Amino acid sequence: MFWSLGSGIFQLTAYQCITLWLMANGYVPTITVAENPVWFFALLLMIPMWSAFHFYWVHRLLHHRFLYRRVHSLHHRNIDIGPWSGLSMHPIEHLLYFSTLCIHWVVASHPIHLYFHVVFEGPGAAMTHTGYEELLIKDKRSLKLGTFYHQLHHRFFNCNYGNQEMPLDRWLGTFHDGSAEAGARFRS
Ligand SMILES: [Zn+2]
Ligand SMILES: [Zn+2]
Repeated sequence: MFWSLGSGIFQLTAYQCITLWLMANGYVPTITVAENPVWFFALLLMIPMWSAFHFYWVHRLLHHRFLYRRVHSLHHRNIDIGPWSGLSMHPIEHLLYFSTLCIHWVVASHPIHLYFHVVFEGPGAAMTHTGYEELLIKDKRSLKLGTFYHQLHHRFFNCNYGNQEMPLDRWLGTFHDGSAEAGARFRS
């Protein structure tokens, strides 16, 4: 809770405030739905993919020996994850992780896109670390929650660096499905 609220929410809010200020003062390109409805909706679909691409590479960088020891090992103290594990990160990791929002400084967007992106990165991290795959109501899936995918990263450390919005782990050979065969492949 200390790292999530003290550094995580603080930095996420700072990124949001700075970006809104840049938008309001015309320092970064903006659009409205009336001006360009196609780009407006396309960008909403592209933000999760951009975020997944950015997360994968930032995360691989954080697993470099130098940064892992000093920075990312704090997040990996969470072996059996829960919602508070999501943003429990070193301040340097928050700075890198939230830098995904800098896309709004170069690509024309609207505050709605920024809010969506902020929710995806902030509360979204709590959801992907719930430790539960989905919320069931009367045995039917009502909400997709945490992913077993990222839970395996917290268990085995050297696999599943990305998330499921983009199949980068499958393309780059770092995908672990939790099976004994995958475990043997990673050990070899
Ligand atoms: Zn994690
Ligand atoms: Zn990691």
